[in-house]
Amino acid sequence: MLHFNTEEIEKIKKKLNGYELTSFNVGLLTKRKDKILLKKIRKEISERLKLRPKIQGEDVFILIDPEKGTINVRIASVFVSGRYRKLKRGIAQTKFYCPKCKGKGCKSCNYRGKLDIDSIEELIAPFFVEMFKAKEIKFHGAGREDTDVRMLGLGRKFVIEVIKPKRRKINLQKLQNAINKKYKGRIEIFNLEYCSKKRIAEIKAEKNDKLYRAVVICESKVCSREIEKLKGKKLNIEQKTPKRVAFRRADKIRTKHVEILYANKINEKEFELILKAEAGTYIKEFISGDNSRTKPSVSSLLNKRCKCKELDVLFIYESFQN
Ligand SMILES: [Zn+2]
Repeated sequence: MLHFNTEEIEKIKKKLNGYELTSFNVGLLTKRKDKILLKKIRKEISERLKLRPKIQGEDVFILIDPEKGTINVRIASVFVSGRYRKLKRGIAQTKFYCPKCKGKGCKSCNYRGKLDIDSIEELIAPFFVEMFKAKEIKFHGAGREDTDVRMLGLGRKFVIEVIKPKRRKINLQKLQNAINKKYKGRIEIFNLEYCSKKRIAEIKAEKNDKLYRAVVICESKVCSREIEKLKGKKLNIEQKTPKRVAFRRADKIRTKHVEILYANKINEKEFELILKAEAGTYIKEFISGDNSRTKPSVSSLLNKRCKCKELDVLFIYESFQN
C-alpha cells in the first residue's frame, strides 16, 4: 500500500512546474485495481494542486507505480487546425529527412539529417514553439502537393500538434499575424482554431477533387486548333503508379476522372490548362503520359511529347460539413 502524502504531492508538483494546466487524470500501475486508493489520490491531487479531475481530454496524465514508488507525468499535446497557402515554389510541406541516413545525420547531408529544402513545418515551428513554450511541433496536412507546386485559393487544411506545451491557451490571431508578416509572399496560414486530436484522422481521411492550373510545354510546335480540341474533354484515365512515388505507394492501376475546363495558348510550344481532377490523380503524369503508364494523357491526345512546366492547386472541393 502506497503512502500517498506530501512527499508524493511535492514530487508531482516539481514535475509539473512551469506548465499551465487546468485538468488532470491519474492512473495506478498495479495488477490489482485499487479503486479506493485511486479515489483518494485523485482527491488529494485535485485539492492540493488545484486541478480539475477529468477522464478524457485532460491536460496531464499522472501515472503512479505504488510498488516502485515512481511517478511519471505525460503532458497532453495541444492541437491547432488551420489552412495554408503556398505562394512560392520550392517549399515542401513537412521536413524532408535525408534519404540516405533517414534523419540520423551523415556525410551527404552535412550531418544535419535533413535536406536543404524549406518546409512549411519548419518555417512555422519556431513561432508555435515560442508562443506555446513547447518542445516541438508536428505538422499534419490534409494531403500534400509536390514541393514545386503552389497551393493557392482557399488553401489546404492542416493540424499542428504542439508537443509538451507550457502554455495551452495563447492568442492564435497574434501567432498567425506574426507568421504571415515574416513569410509575406511565400506562405500564409489562416483560420487557426483549437481542435482535438481526432481532427487529424478526419482531415487525413478526406478524398477531395481538385482544381489545377498547369503550364504545358511541348517538344514541338503546337497550334491553337490542337489546343482548342482539348477544351471540355472529360476523360477516364488509367494511371499506373508513377516511378517517382513507387517507393511509398502500391504499384497498381488507378482509374481517375479528369476534366479539362480551359486551354489557352501561351506561345508556340506552351499552353495553359485549367483542369479538375479526382482525388489522387497524378497531374504531371497525366500531362507527360509517364512512358505510357498513364493513358490517355495530354501527350497522347496531342500526339507529341509534353511536359508539365508549372503546376498550381487552385481549389480543393471540400464537403461543407468540414
Ligand atoms: Zn544524411
